Amino acid sequence: MSNVGRRHGRALVIGGGIAGPVVAMALQRVGIESGIFEAAPAPSDGVGAFLTVASNGIDALQAIEAHRPVVATGLRTERMALFSGRGKFLGAVEAGVPLTDGSTTTTIERARLYQLLHDEARRRRIPVAHGKRLVAIDETTCGVVARFADGSSEEGGFLVGADGIWSTARSILAPDAPRPEYAGLVGLGGRARGVHLDAEPSTFQMFFGTRAFFGFIPVDGTDVLWFANLPIRPEPERTELASVLAGTWKERLVETFEGDAFPARELIDSTADEDLRTASMHTLEPPGSWFSGRSILVGDAAHVTSPSSGQGAALAMEDGVELARCLRDRPDLGSAFATFQRLREGRVRRILRAAKRVNSDKAAGPFGRAIRDAVMPMMMRWMAGPTRQLWLLAHHIDFTGPVGGPMALLAA
Ligand SMILES: Cc1cc2nc3c(=O)[nH]c(=O)nc-3n(C[C@H](O)[C@H](O)[C@H](O)COP(=O)(O)OP(=O)(O)OC[C@H]3O[C@@H](n4cnc5c(N)ncnc54)[C@H](O)[C@@H]3O)c2cc1C
Repeated sequence: MSNVGRRHGRALVIGGGIAGPVVAMALQRVGIESGIFEAAPAPSDGVGAFLTVASNGIDALQAIEAHRPVVATGLRTERMALFSGRGKFLGAVEAGVPLTDGSTTTTIERARLYQLLHDEARRRRIPVAHGKRLVAIDETTCGVVARFADGSSEEGGFLVGADGIWSTARSILAPDAPRPEYAGLVGLGGRARGVHLDAEPSTFQMFFGTRAFFGFIPVDGTDVLWFANLPIRPEPERTELASVLAGTWKERLVETFEGDAFPARELIDSTADEDLRTASMHTLEPPGSWFSGRSILVGDAAHVTSPSSGQGAALAMEDGVELARCLRDRPDLGSAFATFQRLREGRVRRILRAAKRVNSDKAAGPFGRAIRDAVMPMMMRWMAGPTRQLWLLAHHIDFTGPVGGPMALLAA
C-alpha cells in the first residue's frame, strides 16, 4: 500500500453513478484503494436520457486517462446556437474549448457514459458491489463503517458520498442541508430516428419556444438527440411522471410547440415511445459543510446545477479528481476535506447562479419573453467574447501538480 493509502485508509465510495467511478479511479492514481457501493441491484441499462460533458469535465477525465472512450463514443459538441420561437437567430457561443489532444465537449447518452466509466473502473480492478443501499454511517476510533439496507456493512478509512441528488449520505452528514429545489421545469428528451434535417453537425440548436424550451443536435445522417423543458407547476410526483404514458407526453409536447418555427413536431413524431425520457429538474444549494468526520460529499450529493447548466456531470468529474489531489497532498482527512471544499465551493456556486438564471429564462411568461428576446442577442454577443466562458469551460485541475500550486510546495 502507498504512503497516501496508509495515511487515509481504504475509501468507501457510496454510489456508482458518474462521480463514483471517477472518484474511485482518481483515488487509485494517488495510491488509495477503494470499493464502490451502489444501491441499484444491477448495472444501469438504458436509464436516463443524454447529457453533455463539458470540456472541463473531459479535461478532468483526461487527468486520470479516462476520457478517450467517452470522446470516441459521444458526439463532439462545438457550438450552441440560440434562436427565438419564431426562428430568429439570437446568437451562438462555443460549447467547449479544445484540450491538448483536440477533444472537447461531448454529448453522450447517460447510460453509455455510465457503462464506459464502469468498464474503465473494472479494467483498473476497482470492485463495484450492487444492491448496497447506504442507510447509516458509523464512525469508529480509526475508521468509518457504512451500513447497508441488506443488513451488511463495510469498514474503511473514510467515506465518499457520491450517491446523487437524493443522497442518503448528505442527509446523515448534513441533516440541516437545503433540500433539492424544483426548478419549475420538467425535462423530456429522446432520440429521433430516420429524420432528414438540414442541421449543422456538432452544433446544439436551442429555441426559446413560445411556451417551452427546445433543443436538438444531429447524431448522424438520420438520428437526432432532442430535449424539451416544459414549465410545469406544482412539481409532479415522481410516480406521476413515470405513470404518464410516452404517447400522452408526446401529444402534450406537440401541442406545446404548435406554431413555433422549429422542427419539434417532426422530431417528436420520429421518436419511439421507449426512446422518450422524463424527469423533473432540480437545483441544490450546497450544504454549509460538505464533510463531517471521516466522510465527504461529491457530485450531485453536494450540489446540483440542473441540466440547464450542462455542467452536472462535468462538476462531478472535477470533484473526483480534485478530492484525490487534496487527499494526496494534505496530511490528514480534516485538512484534505477542508481544502477540497474551499477549492470547489466558489466555482460550484457561480455555476449554480448561472443555471438558475437560465431556468428562469426558460420558464418566462409573455412579458419576460419579450425582454429576454430583446436582451439575449446582446448577452450572447457578450458571452461569445473569446475569454468570457474560459472560467467555466477551460477549468483545468493540475492533477500532478501540488494543491495550491508550486508556492504551496515551498511553504510546506
Ligand atoms: C437514473 C439517472 C438518470 C439520469 N439522467 C440524466 C439525464 O438524462 N440528463 C442529465 O443531465 N443528467 C441525468 N442524471 C444526472 C446526472 O447523471 C448527474 O447530474 C451527474 O452525472 C452527477 O453524477 P453523480 O454521480 O453525482 O450522481 P448520479 O449520476 O445521480 O449517481 C448517483 C448514484 O448513487 C446511487 N445511490 C443513490 N442513493 C444511494 C444509496 N443510499 N446508497 C448507494 N447508492 C446510492 C444511485 O443509484 C446512482 O447510481 C441522471 C441521474 C440518474 C441517477
